[in-house]
Amino acid sequence: MSLEDRPDVGSGRESHPLASLYRQLLAGVGEDLDRQGLAGTPLRAAKAFEFLTHGYSEDVDRLLNGAIFDSANRDMVVVRDIEFYSLCEHHILPFHGKVHVAYLPAGKVIGLSKIPRIVDVFARRLQIQENLTDQIARCIERLTRAKGVAVVIEARHLCMAMRGVEKQNASMVTTTMLGQFRESESARTQFLRFLPNA
Ligand code: ZN
Repeated sequence: MSLEDRPDVGSGRESHPLASLYRQLLAGVGEDLDRQGLAGTPLRAAKAFEFLTHGYSEDVDRLLNGAIFDSANRDMVVVRDIEFYSLCEHHILPFHGKVHVAYLPAGKVIGLSKIPRIVDVFARRLQIQENLTDQIARCIERLTRAKGVAVVIEARHLCMAMRGVEKQNASMVTTTMLGQFRESESARTQFLRFLPNA
């Protein structure tokens, strides 16, 4: 049954705990909750917000499902342009952009598809970009015991574009360099050469 077909949608009897909060929010800005266009909005918004924050209920180790493999490769692995969407913890407005990840394997590699999933576990929470960058890097370091991990995030923040300074084109770049990427300039330079616009 789709959300729209549910008999409780719009009736004011939604059981989702966040739906009643969205009703209060809409009333708080002066909306008419009986207007037709808003009939299913509190429940839809509640479900959407739940999805946007589903990282809280996910566990990296369970999600990885053993996709860590032995490998003799000791050279840099780079996964770049991983698209992400997150919410800033100060305004609960979206920030979104791209994550670039590199690591120097020390006997273990991660299944390729798992790196974007790790990004999502941390992105789908209330975040600041600096902590998101750090959490992704430390998670990959813990899982692979790599000799070095580097993460770069480029993002646009709607809290800057839609309000506040209203700078639509400003983007923010954050980096976390661990292990050899912190110690060795040549490792850093090699990674940064893989990045777009670098
Ligand atoms: Zn913000």
